[in-house]
Amino acid sequence: MQNRVHIGNLKDHIGSDVVVAGWVHVRRDHGKLIFIDLRDETGKIQIVFNPKVSEGAHTTAESLRSEWVVSVTGIVKERPDNLINKEEPNGALELAANGIEIVNEAKTPPFDVTEDTSGVGEEARLKYRYIDLRSERMQRNMRKRSEVVMYIRNFLVAKSFTEIETPILTKSTPEGARDFLVPSRLQQGKFYALPQSPQQYKQLLIASGFEKYFQIPRCFRDEDPRADRAYGEFTQLDIEMAFVEQEDILKLTEELFTTMVESVFPEKRITKKPWPRLTHKEAIAQHQTDKPDLRANTSDPNELAFAWTLDFPLFAEQTKEDFFHGSGKATFAPSHHMFTAPHPDDIPLLDTDPMNVRGLQHDMVLNGYEVGGGSIRIHDPNIQTKIFELIGFTEEQKKEFRHMLEAFTYGVPPHGGIAPGIDRLLMVILGEPNLREVIAFPATSGGQAAVMDAPSEVAKEQLTELGIEIKEKKE
Ligand code: ASP
Repeated sequence: MQNRVHIGNLKDHIGSDVVVAGWVHVRRDHGKLIFIDLRDETGKIQIVFNPKVSEGAHTTAESLRSEWVVSVTGIVKERPDNLINKEEPNGALELAANGIEIVNEAKTPPFDVTEDTSGVGEEARLKYRYIDLRSERMQRNMRKRSEVVMYIRNFLVAKSFTEIETPILTKSTPEGARDFLVPSRLQQGKFYALPQSPQQYKQLLIASGFEKYFQIPRCFRDEDPRADRAYGEFTQLDIEMAFVEQEDILKLTEELFTTMVESVFPEKRITKKPWPRLTHKEAIAQHQTDKPDLRANTSDPNELAFAWTLDFPLFAEQTKEDFFHGSGKATFAPSHHMFTAPHPDDIPLLDTDPMNVRGLQHDMVLNGYEVGGGSIRIHDPNIQTKIFELIGFTEEQKKEFRHMLEAFTYGVPPHGGIAPGIDRLLMVILGEPNLREVIAFPATSGGQAAVMDAPSEVAKEQLTELGIEIKEKKE
């Protein structure tokens, strides 16, 4: 729109005739004068329609309703001292309208976006997410998210990291959850799996000679919905580095997130720098959890207590749900994932006392939430094979990971990484109770992509092409 001035910049145009455009936030009729607050993505401005200035604009303003899209011309004026609204960034200004054009009328919105929408029912908020996202809190959350991601990118690129994309249509990546499967049309009866994380690809990239990799990928896990987990998919910062020790990963992560908070959230205070480190044993003994909340004052919304939990046991007891129950004989399951390296001092225990082997795993904790995890990886094919055996892989299952073992025979440096969850981090930093508050279009807690109404049935022809027949439907 030609000559349009963004509302957030009006203070630089005092005395000028300008064009603004946006949504009608509220309208107030005061007898002769009509006031509207107009909203665009940069802010709000009070606009006055006075019939003495423009009869036509005043008449049009009478018909305006909430959320109509309009463009208004008028003169930017300073308000008299006694009418300044100190709560609003533009509270010292108003626009004296001399013209208005209705760009697009709007139905009455299903809920009021001029107020915080957290009290509105989830169903309506997610079905009409595009309206919900107009509210101030959701706008702030989305913008903060963008700033966080941009900060991370700039930080890592300045440290010589290379951002590399890895496939979404791929094979099962065992991170301990169920896979989402995608049927192949070209090879009927075969399936891709959506990645639970780029774990194997990032390790292969290290073998390819990329010594500092990162990506901000979407990961997919078909887990039952839970309040602090997004259903189906989530975004993480995926990092992998060659020739590093655990200390290098901890230092880099700590510097990244400490400076990110200081830059993007200057109002927040980090409880302890450097971040406290606890061994898994200490955390359990002192806090009865491996993700302790180390805030000094848990009611201070601006306090952020980062911490590390280290020295996890490499194995946990295997349960029925574990991916690894292959042979059915093994009792061990990796507590992180099967590529995590055992502590070098504990390697002899792999043969004698596996449950007492420590893993070179690191968990990043924030205010009592696990916000990221990673490890130093195994790069010796013999140790990797031993782990496969301990977790009870059948020959068939071992074959599925042949490419990793093979890659490791072609020259791979020691390596390790971490993957902090972007959604989880934002939820905690912004003090939101739920991941859905920091994701633009999250699934409902029942797993429905609400605006698009997915999952949905597909045409019979599509299924035929895929060689799929639906036998019975679960209601
Ligand atoms: N792949 C792991 C995860 O997604 C993170 C890592 O080990 O780097 O949790």
